[in-house]
Amino acid sequence: MSKILFTPGPVMMFPETLRSAATQIPYSRTAAFSELVLRAEAALLRLVCAPQGSRAVFLTGSGTAAMETSVISFIDAGASAAVVNGGAFGQRFSDICARHGVPVQEASVDRDPLTDGKALKELRPPVSALFINAHETSVGHVYDLQATARFCLEHDCLHVVDAIGLFVTDRIEMTASKIDVLILSSNKGLALAPGLSMLVLSPKAQTRIVAQPRSYYLDLRGMLSDGARGQTPFTPAIGVILQLAERLSGLLTAGLDRSIEHARGLAGQFRAGIERLPLKLYSRHMPNAMTAVEVTEPGLPARTIVDRLDAEHGLVVAPNGGKLEAKMFRVAHMGNLTTGDVASLVNALTQIFQNGSRSR
Ligand SMILES: *Cc1c(COP(=O)(O)O)cnc(C)c1O
Repeated sequence: MSKILFTPGPVMMFPETLRSAATQIPYSRTAAFSELVLRAEAALLRLVCAPQGSRAVFLTGSGTAAMETSVISFIDAGASAAVVNGGAFGQRFSDICARHGVPVQEASVDRDPLTDGKALKELRPPVSALFINAHETSVGHVYDLQATARFCLEHDCLHVVDAIGLFVTDRIEMTASKIDVLILSSNKGLALAPGLSMLVLSPKAQTRIVAQPRSYYLDLRGMLSDGARGQTPFTPAIGVILQLAERLSGLLTAGLDRSIEHARGLAGQFRAGIERLPLKLYSRHMPNAMTAVEVTEPGLPARTIVDRLDAEHGLVVAPNGGKLEAKMFRVAHMGNLTTGDVASLVNALTQIFQNGSRSR
């Protein structure tokens, strides 16, 4: 039996994507491929409501490559960065900064949506950019980007938003949230193979790229200049770009709202379905993309539930790492999942809790 993935990447792929993945990879230094890339760029700019004059570039590497590119491209030697750290992905921004010798002002938060802006008052500008994960996927928590947008406007720093964890399942609009740099990747809500990440740059961001990025491969200037004619400095993830082009045009045709509503429906169904189970929602500010739950039944570790769902039901959810491993697991509502899939998961969880208590 093939497994059903409820993991926040990779996710269940759509039939068109699977068909595309089974085809021969074409040579990419051609006019036809350039045209496809330019069309994908235009589609992406529309889907994220990028301001006029924005550009998107395609990187070969998972989302972390795009996170690192954003750090080394917008923080000059001697300048500082601000990071909202509410979990593993916020920590990753801090770690990337540390690796590159960038001093970090950290707003360390725990399930704070930031709406009142208090946590941001601890930051000590000037900083060149503020980095935030719109959805902190390690704990299923979303932030109020209007709060960070206000901070960035007030302190004239770039608003760099990693929206990897919620694009396609939740609304993300660059113009409305005053986002200067948007980070996306292929294997979350887009439901494509891993290996491709994207940066969308507002006109303002394009004027603030450092002259000498501290990486040869992740050089945004090269990506932008080759990208102007639909090409990339190095071999692109050709296969994933083909999948992306098809997916984006599908999203434009059907309307992004439909995908967002579908994810909202699955999330609502799952959250209602587990109400009577010994599971507690971890955050009060959840995206449609995912639900993180705490197990409240003593003696049944979260990790055991994760393992049994996989082994006994072929349903794959995501364990948490570190000190949350025994308490929490995560259920994504991304990609090609149906209400039937969610019902199977709720039933399986119900069974596991019934057996769990009977055996004691
Ligand atoms: C998945 C994810 C990333 C990218 O992680 P990779 O391991 O490089 O794929 C970055 N940020 C967030 C919020 C994510 O959910």
